[in-house]
Amino acid sequence: MLSLNLSDEVLGTFAPIIVYWVYSGMYVFMGSLENYRLHTKKDEDTKNLVSKRDVVKGVLLQQAVQAVVATILFAVTGNAPDSSQPQNPSLFVLARQLLVAMFVLDTWQYFMHRYMHHNKFLYRHIHSQHHRLIVPYAFGALYNHPVEGLLLDTIGGALSFLVSGMSPRASIFFFSFATLKTVDDHCGLWLPGNLFHFVFSNNSAYHDIHHQLYGNKYNFSQPFFVVWDRILGTHMPYSLEKRDKGGGFEARPKKDCLRKAD
Ligand SMILES: [Zn+2]
Ligand SMILES: [Zn+2]
Repeated sequence: MLSLNLSDEVLGTFAPIIVYWVYSGMYVFMGSLENYRLHTKKDEDTKNLVSKRDVVKGVLLQQAVQAVVATILFAVTGNAPDSSQPQNPSLFVLARQLLVAMFVLDTWQYFMHRYMHHNKFLYRHIHSQHHRLIVPYAFGALYNHPVEGLLLDTIGGALSFLVSGMSPRASIFFFSFATLKTVDDHCGLWLPGNLFHFVFSNNSAYHDIHHQLYGNKYNFSQPFFVVWDRILGTHMPYSLEKRDKGGGFEARPKKDCLRKAD
């Protein structure tokens, strides 16, 4: 019998990668639901500045880099015996750790993301790669320059893990959840009954505004809450309208996007 003995650290590193491809694979099949798309299929093929093949290669590279760094981080932080951590934390403690982790990740990513737009060098050489997708689709969610993946996702993830004090087992759940959320925000669809939409106002339409050329000084918040956009005046409200051509929806900014945000 082949017995698999995977540590929580290994699962915390690799489960999100599997979650990413399974969940975005599901969205590939739903991409033909024209009536729920935020852009036409034609726009997805013509407006984007990178091929799907290069997106897949870019994401795999980024996930490989992250897996190596995460393994090292877990090895460095995981060996210290920490008696203050109960083996089976109560649900209350778990919920608190998850909320803290979400807040830390959001805060880190908001400021790093906004700075990458503000600093022309960083934008041109690093973050503009993610913005080659004017029409986002699910498996493009982590199409980033490896340095961006390292700065925003890996270091952001490590910080939220360390500050929240969650166990490696809880981190399997947290990192997989954050991955689901990021994929969902890039799915390019507005599906009725999407559970994320009930809980989070940061969603596929909200992030779609940021991917448009007119909207990239707004809606920096990712991946969970929109609180930093609201506090710091970069929040762009939008309305969901029925699109003229091809059925489906369109996220339309409610305010003049030309007003400078920073
Ligand atoms: Zn951006
Ligand atoms: Zn994005």
